[in-house]
Amino acid sequence: MKELLHSLGTAEMDELTAGLGHPRYRSGQLRDWLYRHPVGAWDGMTNLPARFIEQLQERYDIEGLKVVERRVSRDGTRKFLFELRDGQTVESVIIPMADHATFCLSSQVGCAMACRFCATARGGLVRNLKSGEIVQQVIALQQDLADDPLPGCHSAHPNVVFMGMGEPLDNLPAVASSIAIMLDPACLGLSRRRVRISTSGPGDGLRKLLDSELNVGLTLSLGGSNDSERKSIMPVPGRTSVSDSLDLAERYGKRIGRRGTVAWVLIAGKTDHLEQARNLADLLARRPFKVNLIPLNPLDDDDLAAPGQERTLAFQKVLTEAGVDAFIRASGGRDIAAACGQLHRRHQAS
Ligand code: SAH
Repeated sequence: MKELLHSLGTAEMDELTAGLGHPRYRSGQLRDWLYRHPVGAWDGMTNLPARFIEQLQERYDIEGLKVVERRVSRDGTRKFLFELRDGQTVESVIIPMADHATFCLSSQVGCAMACRFCATARGGLVRNLKSGEIVQQVIALQQDLADDPLPGCHSAHPNVVFMGMGEPLDNLPAVASSIAIMLDPACLGLSRRRVRISTSGPGDGLRKLLDSELNVGLTLSLGGSNDSERKSIMPVPGRTSVSDSLDLAERYGKRIGRRGTVAWVLIAGKTDHLEQARNLADLLARRPFKVNLIPLNPLDDDDLAAPGQERTLAFQKVLTEAGVDAFIRASGGRDIAAACGQLHRRHQAS
C-alpha cells in the first residue's frame, strides 16, 4: 500500500518536493490543499503543475478514510465509523461542549490491553494506525463541523483527545508524528494545550513518552487503587504497578508544566467502593493530578453496570473532601454506542 501524504511532516514534505525537482513554495501549496482547504482528490489541487501531481500520485495516497457510518446522538455527540484502505474500521467521535468541540481519536485498530470494560479490547489488536490515518480523522471531523456546525464549536479550534480505539503509547511514533502535524501552524495549527493523550499506562510506553519531545496533556486511566484491583480490571496495564504509573505520569507532567488527569471508570461493585475512593485520595495526596470519574458506558453483551447517581456522588465527595479535585464526566452518546469501540464491534458483528 502507498504511504499517505498526510503522514509527512513539513520538513519531509519540503524534502520530497525538492527531491522531485520542484521549488519549495510548491510544498507549501500542497500543504494548503491538504490542511487549509482540504480537497480530498488530486484534481482539486488546481495550482500545482500536472507533473508534480503525477509524481506524487505514483508514490502517495491522499484518501485514507471513508465514512461508513455517522450517528448523531440526542445529546449532540456525533460518532463516525471510518473504513481504512485495507477494509479495517476505526471510530472517532465529536463531543459538543459549551464553547468548543472535543474530537476523540483512535490510534490503533483494536487494542492489546484487554481492559474488562472496553469494547475495543474484545477483538485484540489488529494493527497500528499510520500517522496520516490519525491526522485524517481530525480533518474529517473538522469537515463535518464545517458542513454541519454546532453552536459554539469552531471547527478550527477543537480539543483533541486520544480516547478512541487503541492504546496511544503502544503506537507512540505514529501518534507523536500525527501530533506534530496537528500542532504545526503550516498544517493543522492546533494549540498544544488542547491536545491530550489518554493512556492505560504501560510502563515502557510512559518511559518513552517521558523521554520524547511531546508536550501535550496526559490522562492516566487507572482502574484500581492498588495493583491487584487494577490487574483484575485492566490486566495488561496492570503489569505496571499503580505507583510506577503515577510516578512516571507525574514526572511527565512536571516536564511539560501541566497537571495530569487520572481517569477512573466507575463500575458498580468493582470500582465504586468508597474505600477505593479513600485509597485513591491517599495515592494522589500531594501529587499534581485531578480525577475524572467516568460512569461505565455498559456494553451490549456484558453484565457490568454503572453505579447509581448517589454512589457516584458519594465517591466524588470522598475525593473532594480529601482535597483531590474530582469531576464526573458523563459519557455522552449512549444511544449511539459512543463508548470506545462499540460501533466498530457492532459493525463487525453485523
Ligand atoms: N487506551 C487508552 C485510550 C482509549 S480508552 C486509555 O486507556 O486511556 C479511553 C478512556 O475511555 C479510558 O479512560 C477508558 O477507561 C475509558 N473507557 C473505555 N471503555 C469505557 C466504557 N465502556 N465506559 C466508560 N469508559 C470507558
